[in-house]
Amino acid sequence: MIPGQFEYARPANIAEALRLLKEREGEAKVLSGGYSLLPLIKLRLAQPALLVDIRDVDGLDHIVEDPSGGGSDWVSRQREAGHQAGPELHIGARVTHAQLEKSALIAEHYPLIADAAHGIGDRQVRNWGTVGGSVAHADPSSDWPAVFIALDAAFACRSLEAERVVPARQWFQGVFQTAIEMTELLTEVRVHRPGARSGGAYQKLERRAGDFATVGVAVQLRLDDAGRIGVAGIGVTAVSDAPFAATTAEALLAGAQPNEETYRAAGAAVAAQAQPASDTHGPVEYKRAMAAEMTVRALRAAVERASAA
Ligand SMILES: Cc1cc2nc3c(=O)[nH]c(=O)nc-3n(C[C@H](O)[C@H](O)[C@H](O)COP(=O)(O)OP(=O)(O)OC[C@H]3O[C@@H](n4cnc5c(N)ncnc54)[C@H](O)[C@@H]3O)c2cc1C
Repeated sequence: MIPGQFEYARPANIAEALRLLKEREGEAKVLSGGYSLLPLIKLRLAQPALLVDIRDVDGLDHIVEDPSGGGSDWVSRQREAGHQAGPELHIGARVTHAQLEKSALIAEHYPLIADAAHGIGDRQVRNWGTVGGSVAHADPSSDWPAVFIALDAAFACRSLEAERVVPARQWFQGVFQTAIEMTELLTEVRVHRPGARSGGAYQKLERRAGDFATVGVAVQLRLDDAGRIGVAGIGVTAVSDAPFAATTAEALLAGAQPNEETYRAAGAAVAAQAQPASDTHGPVEYKRAMAAEMTVRALRAAVERASAA
């Protein structure tokens, strides 16, 4: 397919990108890796008048920890929810899936992120696709949303006027719908580093290696001093209009013994909360059953990692 005509801009900094988004509000679109947007433009499902290519924009390609742990309201809420004080990870919006896959920092402290990065598309997709593009695009079957919901992450957005930080649990609002405004740029993802006795894991069911998920379940949990599950976060993708936090299962896990009975009960709760559609990936009953099974597997792996941490 041949795309319609569009203008193209390649700003060198965030201020210039934001100015373009403001001046051409409603007709400008950010271009990052292009792996989701360009196919849409070729199919004429999106017809932006201006593409604002952010590949040269400074300050969007970092994977660093802020040792102070940040200072936002979001961090305070995390602490209230029982997360331990510690560094806060900042992932720039232009960081590719492959950069996360190869990062030693991610491998050491964020196994849940490493799990997901390995399983996204093929090598070419991982080399071009960006974490910010994935989160802003909000494909209901993409992997990062489940991961960032489980980790209770937050997304920093900038407009010409202000910066705001939106919790991942409030970001994904429907099919390809998020909390971002047309004049905003998503600048980074913020994740609190999981403390001692914490473990995370992502389980993705895919028909062939490199496919989008039939169902994906991300779990991040912490064991308490008695070996019970303390706090657990569960993010689920591909079995609803939007990725969601499995809140019933999370509540059920708090204070529970980490055993097969608990995992099965949590899996059943995830299956009940899911609202899958019947499609080429399978019928509704199959998807619910697989949502339960992926939850059990992710919990097993997360507890194993937490026990070793
Ligand atoms: C063959 C194939 C297989 C794939 N497999 C998977 C998979 O298994 N799992 C998975 O999760 N994904 C998969 N993807 C999607 C891939 O990860 C995309 O790259 C990603 O979803 C979008 O990132 P991008 O950088 O390409 O964004 P783009 O295509 O450039 O942009 C996507 C959207 O986000 C907006 N946007 C981008 N960056 C910003 C920003 N910083 N601020 C505001 N808005 C922004 C754009 O305006 C656009 O609307 C696959 C894609 C392909 C083509």
